[in-house]
Amino acid sequence: MSVDLLIRNARIVSSAGVEDAHLLVEDGKIAGRVAHSENPAAKRTIDADGKLVIPGLVDAHAHFREPGAEHKEGFFSGSAAAVVGGVTTVLVMPTDNPATRTAGEYLAKAKMAEEVTHADFGLLALATPDLAHLPELAALGVLGMEFFLIGENAEALWDVDLLADLLRRTAARHLVCSITPGEDEITTRRTDALRRAGRRDPKAFAESRPSVAEAVAVEHACAAAYEADARVHVRQVSTAPAVDSLRFWRSVGARLSAEATPHNLALTDEELMRQGPFAKMAPPLRTKSDRDALARAAREDIITMVATDHAPHLASEKERGRADIWEAPLGVPGLQTMLPILLREVSRGSLSLGDIVRLASENPAKVFGLYPAKGALLPGSDADLVIVDPDVSFVIRSEDQISKAAHTLFDGTEVRGKPVLTVLRGREVAVDGKIVGDPGGKLLTRVR
Ligand SMILES: [Zn+2]
Repeated sequence: MSVDLLIRNARIVSSAGVEDAHLLVEDGKIAGRVAHSENPAAKRTIDADGKLVIPGLVDAHAHFREPGAEHKEGFFSGSAAAVVGGVTTVLVMPTDNPATRTAGEYLAKAKMAEEVTHADFGLLALATPDLAHLPELAALGVLGMEFFLIGENAEALWDVDLLADLLRRTAARHLVCSITPGEDEITTRRTDALRRAGRRDPKAFAESRPSVAEAVAVEHACAAAYEADARVHVRQVSTAPAVDSLRFWRSVGARLSAEATPHNLALTDEELMRQGPFAKMAPPLRTKSDRDALARAAREDIITMVATDHAPHLASEKERGRADIWEAPLGVPGLQTMLPILLREVSRGSLSLGDIVRLASENPAKVFGLYPAKGALLPGSDADLVIVDPDVSFVIRSEDQISKAAHTLFDGTEVRGKPVLTVLRGREVAVDGKIVGDPGGKLLTRVR
């Protein structure tokens, strides 16, 4: 009996630790693991040679800009950046043009994406205030509904009872409800005041989105989740007070998961001063004490996952903010650098390898209903994995970025630990920073 694929001499990482084994793959799925002393027969062999084998990362928060802004990114380029970086599953946000609100918009996006995507992917849908499209989207297997406390649909959601009702109705369809916190009133008032005062420097942008605005919004989201007794995911938490709010609401029984971005875990507002418009995103980079609170919360599973908020813009678009920060668009790419930056946090001692797998593979797969097909290397899991050479140091460079954005916040950053091979459902999809083969990603739908 010989398996399809044997990954020899692996050091397999899970949230529980590291296990030395050969990994067996049959029909695109994990068939089991055997001790290094064994010598199983296989049609094809990859020798991991003692390197780390990590379950393919699941990024729960990416904007691929397609349809509507394909000059900035697309499913092809964005997913290529993902698999090169070891991210094998991407959950795509609905904030495109048109946004993903209806069954028709969902199906059109899915059909377009399946032909060109290198990673497996799921689609998220934008919740409308009346949830009119919820039944049809649920029937199609959409992975989750997105509620934004900031922006055009936000007004109705600032009534806790109403928001709780919407969360309850969504959860009753077995869909994940995610809330993007944000507070229009404080942010708009501060922005207006800063602009009137003639402020155009990068720091003014950070001042327009103060910690207190996030604290108010996260508190609101948590209170609604508690009131609804619904499982709710809080997006892009970045401040110490918001972390304390999550900790409190979890302690009284609210069923909350929460994410932080790799850049909020790794960088501080000093980088906003240094890189200006290229480090402009929402939430902004915060203080060192915020960053340390996030890392601690990630270790303690209060921040339950790391998600990129991959939101690319061209360098030329970012440059517009050089003299006037307000002119730069919001958002930075993050898929290709996610794993290297998390490995850098391991070198810095703020996270362990097990934390990375829990935060970036297992928990996102669990929260969005994909576990254990995704996020693990258990018997029956999809054979999605990334081999990391822990002894190789390399420097992240903007010119090596595959995203159409072609720049990264981490340009010039030296990292120890390099993703050298990515496998999707038993098939090699990226080797040493380059895509191999044609796009073979498939749409993931929610199965009850
Ligand atoms: Zn986002």
